[in-house]
Amino acid sequence: MGLNGQVLIVTGSGSGIGKETALQLANQGAIIVSADYDEDAAKETADAIIGHGGQATVVKADVSKPEQVEQMVNAAVEAFGTLNGIFNNAGIGNVKPLLEHDVETYHSVIDVNQHGVFYGISFAAKKMVELGVKGTIVNTASIYAYMVAIGSINYHAAKAAVVAMTKSAALELAPHNIRVVGIAPGFIDTPILGDDKAMKEKLANQHMRRKLIQPEKVASVATFLFSNEADAINGSVIPVDDGFLSF
Ligand code: NAD
Repeated sequence: MGLNGQVLIVTGSGSGIGKETALQLANQGAIIVSADYDEDAAKETADAIIGHGGQATVVKADVSKPEQVEQMVNAAVEAFGTLNGIFNNAGIGNVKPLLEHDVETYHSVIDVNQHGVFYGISFAAKKMVELGVKGTIVNTASIYAYMVAIGSINYHAAKAAVVAMTKSAALELAPHNIRVVGIAPGFIDTPILGDDKAMKEKLANQHMRRKLIQPEKVASVATFLFSNEADAINGSVIPVDDGFLSF
């Protein structure tokens, strides 16, 4: 897939989609900067990569803090001498119906899922332009960028912004040979969904094949988007939703 020796940052690498993508990118020869605010979880992912003969380093970074995102980007270049891309994937949910929603709940999600993606795009792009490298930025949006459920106004706003920022950044970074693309997962079987079995079954039934999607299936699409084979895809956000948006 042409990922050999590419230095790629993966945020939210300690769990779920980020973890599986870090592992698959490394399997394709990428060098991984495993970044998460849960440092132990990020280290587990890096250790698994190194255990399989790959190369990885760990950075503890809270993506809602711009200075930590800048530091993460600098740490990648210090460790491996260059930077070829970033997977802006770290995210959280914090569900509260609109009439009970408050500023704190709103910002808890916007600060990570929206501003965190902006910081990742911005600091990584500036560094790649400075280094003069061709690069790829992949952002994790959601089907919730396009449709709504009760209690998720913060999440919908953030994910719609991720779609908009993906297109906007793709346009502005095209002259620098940096592609910006996204994925819009359906409901993926990761800890973010919580433990409520009945709720998970309800979510599973939203897909055409009535099953939650496994994180590896999202990771393989994200990995493809980083590859040369995806070179003509730019500014697009690819649904990985087992038909959810058409159903
Ligand atoms: P997950 O909870 O398994 O993983 C999220 C990871 O992000 C965790 O390791 C967590 O520690 C890390 N993280 C959270 N906030 C962070 C912060 N401020 N700074 C750094 N790291 C932080 O969840 P997941 O399902 O793998 O979610 C990954 C992305 O996929 C998120 O952006 C989420 O919104 C999106 N998504 C998930 C689903 C789903 O159904 N699971 C659907 C659509 C989109």
